[in-house]
Amino acid sequence: MNQKKVFMTNNKQISISEEVKSFLKSDHQLLIDGKWVSSSSGEKIPVFDPATEEQLAEVDSGNQADIDAAVAAARKALTGEWSRITSHDRAQLLNKLADDIEANFAVLSEMEVLDNGMPMALAQYSIAGHGVTLLRYYASWATKIHGDTIPVSPGGAVNGESITYTRKEPIGVVGAIIPWNSPLIFAILKIAPALATGCTVVLKPAELTPITALYLGGLIQKSGIPKGVVNIVTGYGETAGTALTHHDDVDKIAFTGSTEVGKKIVEASVGNLKKVTLELGGKNPVVVFPDADLEKAIPGAARACFFLQGQNCMAGTRLFVHQDIYQPVIDGVKEMAEAFTIGHGLIPTNDFGPLISETQRERVMSYIQLGQDEGAELVTGGETIGDKGFFVKPTIFSNVKGDMKIAKEEIFGPVLCAQPFENEDLETIAHQANDTSYGLSGSVWTQDISIAHKMAMLIDAGQVSINCHAAVDPAIPFGGNKQSGWGREFGKEGLEPYLKTKATSVVF
Ligand code: NDP
Repeated sequence: MNQKKVFMTNNKQISISEEVKSFLKSDHQLLIDGKWVSSSSGEKIPVFDPATEEQLAEVDSGNQADIDAAVAAARKALTGEWSRITSHDRAQLLNKLADDIEANFAVLSEMEVLDNGMPMALAQYSIAGHGVTLLRYYASWATKIHGDTIPVSPGGAVNGESITYTRKEPIGVVGAIIPWNSPLIFAILKIAPALATGCTVVLKPAELTPITALYLGGLIQKSGIPKGVVNIVTGYGETAGTALTHHDDVDKIAFTGSTEVGKKIVEASVGNLKKVTLELGGKNPVVVFPDADLEKAIPGAARACFFLQGQNCMAGTRLFVHQDIYQPVIDGVKEMAEAFTIGHGLIPTNDFGPLISETQRERVMSYIQLGQDEGAELVTGGETIGDKGFFVKPTIFSNVKGDMKIAKEEIFGPVLCAQPFENEDLETIAHQANDTSYGLSGSVWTQDISIAHKMAMLIDAGQVSINCHAAVDPAIPFGGNKQSGWGREFGKEGLEPYLKTKATSVVF
């Protein structure tokens, strides 16, 4: 295989700022009731840079007792000072937090790169473009959350002598469990709507990437947000996560992660019937019609799959291309895959980083082996690279069949599965595009407005983009159909799971 760029990680080129070094070295504890406290177990979890495999920090391993304390703090805060703060002031506090993130943008971006491995440009884009805007977006909603008045006369009341109104009340204590693939943004995506609606939060970051959430905790502590409103318990899913999802005093779990764990969370919620929203996996189709503008569709398809090294639930990992343009599209995507500059995200010219962990690299490599065993054609990639760091080359399989496991299962790595389609009707193409247990995202590439909208309607996913992939904006609702999840995040709809409606009827 002819890689255009040679992989070269020269760790000597990496320089970490003194501020980041000093934060990483500090004693990372749990944020409970406005104070940093040690975990009751005294155990620590090491945190590694996935590009160098060097230990960056160690954080506390929270357990049942710590979750109990954090939930108690969140419960107390829910009915304490926080409940008396006006919606205007809640908005101000969210905006203040956004200001503080902007003021610490460089440090947060650097830490996100070190912790997750993403390229610097992506960390900067995600923090400025998503994190800050999400906080400001939900800040602006805080004053606009209200119920209705309903013109009925219940209980035989005379018309005009009764009124019914609804109030939107905070759902209560929210347990937020987040993954490692975009750690800071997922923390903000849970905290922003929760605080806008007046809820309180216990956040459990992923054990692999807790650093920016802890730094965010420091900003929250100094922001004026009352103590106990946001509590952060680092720890393992099996201990801290399970304690949170089973907790009888938690009213809602907001989860992003794997479908497998999502199902466990549903089971855990049965005890007190807590509400659950789930943003789970995806195996998203990218459908390219023969009239597509290939200048846009080719880079669009490459980015759709390889963004965040494919460790992205919205990744467009199944590429369906009309047979007339199949070869030029595959050639073009291959050229782009081979042109990524791979290495440590702190080197600004690198645009493709490592996978998050050795486990994830092994998992991805096992799917790459499986694809070859299943008879798919390996067009490029298929190998790990470097002696240090969990790097896997962007990989393309061609002539993938719909019944292959690589076409059905979420790989969560840089592996694109391409297949041509003929002149079938749109329903047949959609049937192939929908032939997975997931339904999160998808995209359609064509100049034909009718095909574009018909196909968008036929794709069974929470989000379909036309001539772009995975359009993300704080105002655009996002979430999955089928086994990609329950509920929506972002946008006005993203507030609903944090609210409960109370109807009050008055007879005069
Ligand atoms: P998980 O779903 O295991 O982890 C997501 C979060 O859930 C983490 O904070 C994790 O904790 C926590 N968790 C794990 N087990 C439990 C549990 N029993 N109860 C409560 N919380 C729990 O994802 P992985 O990190 O293991 O990744 C595995 C696969 O999941 C990926 O390969 C990918 O397919 C998918 N995934 C999807 C994501 C998405 O955005 N939709 C994001 C990440 C992964 P901890 O990590 O600390 O153990």
